[in-house]
Amino acid sequence: MRINIVAGNWKMNTTVEEGVKLVSETVEKSKDLSNVKLIVAPPFTHLASTGAKIKGTGIGLSSQNCASEAKGAYTGEVSAEMLAGINVEYAIIGHSERREYYNESNEILLKKIKLALANGISPIFCVGENLNEREENRHFEVIKKQIEEVVFYTDENDFEKIIIAYEPVWAIGTGKTATAEQAQEIHSYIRKILSKKFGKKAENTSILYGGSCKPENAKEIFSKPDVDGGLIGGASLNADDFIAIAKSF
Ligand code: PEP
Repeated sequence: MRINIVAGNWKMNTTVEEGVKLVSETVEKSKDLSNVKLIVAPPFTHLASTGAKIKGTGIGLSSQNCASEAKGAYTGEVSAEMLAGINVEYAIIGHSERREYYNESNEILLKKIKLALANGISPIFCVGENLNEREENRHFEVIKKQIEEVVFYTDENDFEKIIIAYEPVWAIGTGKTATAEQAQEIHSYIRKILSKKFGKKAENTSILYGGSCKPENAKEIFSKPDVDGGLIGGASLNADDFIAIAKSF
């Protein structure tokens, strides 16, 4: 059985103090939640202090990235092993902002995914097309390539630990949301691609939607059969909104 997940990607926002306050509010307001797993992805610098606040609550701790190398002379990088050492359970990998601003190719992302998995961290692997690709009707082929060049190179046991996030780039931080029908169309397509390689195991993969998801639109999007939750950017910086989204199941 796949699980419903609502994950908050804080990006490069909040001071440590603000982050601890935000996560404490999130814990407080999430007490009557059922039927959905919450995950928070604060900046690296906040992982230890926010992690301490969510310990024992069932809320998962995620990083927003990890290094593509295991260790060594890579100034400024943070390895999957280091993250695992402070109880990080998930890592967002392949976010479109990393692909676009830091030139992260599928080849680099595969290295990151393998290192995350080797250290017991579940990747939240992001895929999605940009506006040009959507307008040129190339979104299916773009997503297929992103999945085939990364996820297909993991073995069956590792595959079970991967969460997929479909994030149309044109919907991230823009206020434009994919319609529930557009989300369902791509999510079922992703599951079909995954099932060609991994068979029935693809039925258990949680596929999250991301892109301007808010309390006002989450219910409709989450009602679709292949949408198993959301990766939430802006709205995860407000505990009321984040929890309202999680209550949309
Ligand atoms: C994201 O960046 O993962 C995201 C979905 O952002 P937003 O919700 O702000 O569009």
